[in-house]
Amino acid sequence: MVKLQLENRTAYSRQDLRRLILDALRAEGPGDDRTYTVVIDYRRSKSGVSGYGTYPPSGVQNVRHSRIRINMPRPQHVASSGAVNAAHLGYFARVLVHEIGHTMGLRHGDMVKVKEIETPWLNGQEIRVVIDDVGSTVDKHQKARDAIDTIERSIAAATKKYDTYVKRRTTDLRKAKQSLRYYNRKAERQGESK
Ligand SMILES: [Zn+2]
Repeated sequence: MVKLQLENRTAYSRQDLRRLILDALRAEGPGDDRTYTVVIDYRRSKSGVSGYGTYPPSGVQNVRHSRIRINMPRPQHVASSGAVNAAHLGYFARVLVHEIGHTMGLRHGDMVKVKEIETPWLNGQEIRVVIDDVGSTVDKHQKARDAIDTIERSIAAATKKYDTYVKRRTTDLRKAKQSLRYYNRKAERQGESK
């Protein structure tokens, strides 16, 4: 039987994700004993769902482990009344099936387009958003994530600025050395001619 290690980095209900992913793996998976590590994280864009699934290593008969990553928009973009809306639930399920396909060795040419995938096993499932009693976990979670994004962006910008500066000054240095050599030679020649 398939085993699931769920790594949920979002405010979406772990319990709901777990049930949904296990249903998908049972309905669409390889039917072997492998362990799936499934990471659920956020994506930057406000809509759509993206994913990644590992191909089985070539030549291996019994795949023991596969890895899937699904990136979901943040709850405020896709959730209403405490749960992910139907459109994004559908996206999630279809991308999940697509990535499961990759873990079974299927390439894009072997699979139907993501939007054409049917998910009858999804019947009645939902992905709720976890809210704690103090306030919204979503807000706090998002705040922490946003802080990281902001810092990373500013480091990237500063690094770029620094790189540009170093590049420019390195060129200046090269030019200065070049002119020093030129005037050195000129001085030498003048010395010789005297
Ligand atoms: Zn793909």
